[in-house]
Amino acid sequence: MPYLDDLNPAQRAAVLALDGPVLMLAGAGTGKTKALTSRIVHLLATGKARPNEILAVTFTNKAAREMKERVARMLGQSVEGMPWMGTFHSISVKILRRHAELAGLKSNFTILDTDDQLRLLKQLIVAAGIDEKRWPARMLAGVIDSWKNRAWTPAKVPSSEASAYNNRGTELYEQYQERLRTLNACDFGDLLLHVVTLFQAHPDILAQYQRWLRYILVDEYQDTNVAQYLWLRLLAQGHRNICCVGDDDQSIYGWRGAEVGNILRFEKDFPGAEVVRLEQNYRSTEHILAAASGVIAANAGRLGKTLWTEAQGGEKVRLIGHWDGEEEARWIGDEIEALQRGTRGGQPVGLNDQAILVRASHQMRAFEDRFLTIGLPYRVIGGPRFYERLEIRDAMAYFRLAVSPDDDLAFERVVNTPKRGLGDKAQQDIQRTARVSGMSLLEGARELLAAGGIGGKGAGQLRAFVAGVDRWHAKTLQQGHSHIELAEQILEESGYTAMWQADKTPEAPGRLENLKELVKALEQFENLQGFLEHVALIMENETEDAVEKVSIMTLHAAKGLEFPAVFLPGWEDGLFPSQRSMDESGLKGLEEERRLAYVGITRAEHLCTISFAANRRVYGQWQSQLPSRFIDELPVAHVDVLTPPGLYGGAYGAAAPGGFGGGSRIEDRATKADVYNSPGWRRLQERSSQRPVSQPRESRSPVIDLAAVSSFTEGDRVFHQKFGYGSVAAIEGDKLDIAFDKAGVKKIVARFVVAAHEADDVPF
Ligand code: ATP
Ligand code: MG
Repeated sequence: MPYLDDLNPAQRAAVLALDGPVLMLAGAGTGKTKALTSRIVHLLATGKARPNEILAVTFTNKAAREMKERVARMLGQSVEGMPWMGTFHSISVKILRRHAELAGLKSNFTILDTDDQLRLLKQLIVAAGIDEKRWPARMLAGVIDSWKNRAWTPAKVPSSEASAYNNRGTELYEQYQERLRTLNACDFGDLLLHVVTLFQAHPDILAQYQRWLRYILVDEYQDTNVAQYLWLRLLAQGHRNICCVGDDDQSIYGWRGAEVGNILRFEKDFPGAEVVRLEQNYRSTEHILAAASGVIAANAGRLGKTLWTEAQGGEKVRLIGHWDGEEEARWIGDEIEALQRGTRGGQPVGLNDQAILVRASHQMRAFEDRFLTIGLPYRVIGGPRFYERLEIRDAMAYFRLAVSPDDDLAFERVVNTPKRGLGDKAQQDIQRTARVSGMSLLEGARELLAAGGIGGKGAGQLRAFVAGVDRWHAKTLQQGHSHIELAEQILEESGYTAMWQADKTPEAPGRLENLKELVKALEQFENLQGFLEHVALIMENETEDAVEKVSIMTLHAAKGLEFPAVFLPGWEDGLFPSQRSMDESGLKGLEEERRLAYVGITRAEHLCTISFAANRRVYGQWQSQLPSRFIDELPVAHVDVLTPPGLYGGAYGAAAPGGFGGGSRIEDRATKADVYNSPGWRRLQERSSQRPVSQPRESRSPVIDLAAVSSFTEGDRVFHQKFGYGSVAAIEGDKLDIAFDKAGVKKIVARFVVAAHEADDVPF
């Protein structure tokens, strides 16, 4: 059995212990997934189980497919049918379709996506006479999801939750479930909830599944929520042949209701469980492993593990600070190419073997732009590429119309987006008029309006739209106009931005952020036309999938994966760790962010590069950034600090083609944005002048100084980059009311100001 030879003794023990409960609790890259897969092979090879008797839960459907392929490879034959291999959701759908009537559904029930779910909730909210503006449907959806994650049906929601959603949560939850039943539909949370409820209410059905599914295996067990936990426990109680693998340090879905306590409770639930610990990491070099271990050590309440690796030597984790996000993207693009060509020394690293892992998906834009410009093939995992996103395509259609009003495709795309009361009929009339007179759609619309061919509200709105396009187009012809202002004007006057502002779906804030990113992207071009050409060219140059590509994805999407070279950009406080997560969940949120950092670093096999920028444009404004507090937690001995490009005549700045990153350009932009005053920049300068840059561990308490947030007291003199000097008038959490000497009173997040005496030290 050759697959057993590839395992170390601890892994082999976990594979051979086929009967009874097994818990494999081990750090990243120790071969948990490998052992789990080998266990499946062993079950099949020894004839202990048939393919349809194995329930294997993986984190994504993609992981399930990969696992199936690996099993087939190890077995040396294709595996026909492993129907119970997939995610909790995909397996639940299967079960639920078979017993739909017991959940009050028909077997062809539909599964609602988030948009549908919110629309439905909105209707109920309106019918209940609640002001949806004050109590958004999104909030209710969040409440209901969290209840479903805990496997609470409306009847089971405890009275302690009665105040949820302005005291109306429970009542609306009940109505919502009723509506779903009438519609023969369920949402994602229901898939699990219904199955758990069904098993609890029908022991005979549960017993049947317990008989069938004789062996249960679960990967990434640390991220199961209560409903998933119950689901598993119910099924496993039959044969008790359950094998769960996980790593408490990689629990990153607390925000979705995952409870790391599930993994810790395993031995209680399944007494006599064999607990296997793996300590050898096979993925990463010693430096990478040490860096990850150093960061995660700052979390309290861990099980704690020691990991070691035979892969000694190798490059230290590289840390580099950049002037801004664009610079960071440029540098990473060049690094990737250098790695690919092998000009950095060492073996060439193919593009498939390189990945960029970001904290927030809006960070992807800068990379996509840069890579498109230099023709570096990339793929975005777990989401569309920036320029393929709906809102970006809509906005670009507006820009296209402004540049060439005859662009009919663009006209069609946006004439009724946002809604302008122009239904199919009106749009067909415009088409016909245009065709008959051989004109563009815009001209067709103008003619139709003049002839009174459009009725109702639509007429006025279409007239405004046509006038808008005329106005924008005229502006593109003016010498010296600002195309950035024009773009902002277009998005505003067309009502496009407002449309997303009014939208309460969970995607809307992300879309608005993307629109801001789009406007930001324009800065690198002389005018709209130049920008549109750039995008059009790259869209045409779409590379085949067989071509090697760099992967770009979020840290969340990277779980379980590995790459020889990994880039981790944007390590700045507020971005990573994410301010939102800290605001919402305090220290717990911060610890989850730190686990994300651990997940990120441990994806790397040979080369891991962490970077941050001193300045980022946030909501259209330059914001000075502080390097992430996680950077201070990296152990000095395993980190190499690189000199930022373009600084102090650094080699990179001089050698870079076209001299980008050169001193003059930095000066330019510094004047424009007055960013030399940024504390982030100053800290970066201090750091890059002393090596190694990381502070010694002792100098900083491992428990994070959340206190830094509120380190001001009333009356303190402070300095803000944009508003200048002022005094703290009031403090509310991390927000300060500041009476600025020149700009009046403003509410400012504390980390965006520095104590006045600190600002006084700035040599500018
Ligand atoms: P994560 O926590 O990130 O999910 P994991 O514990 O599931 O990691 P795997 O992905 O299974 O780890 O394994 C990490 C790498 O180590 C893989 O490339 C795998 O092939 C290799 N590996 C695992 N076990 C061994 C072993 N005994 N000998 C050699 N290589 C191994
Ligand atoms: Mg794994």
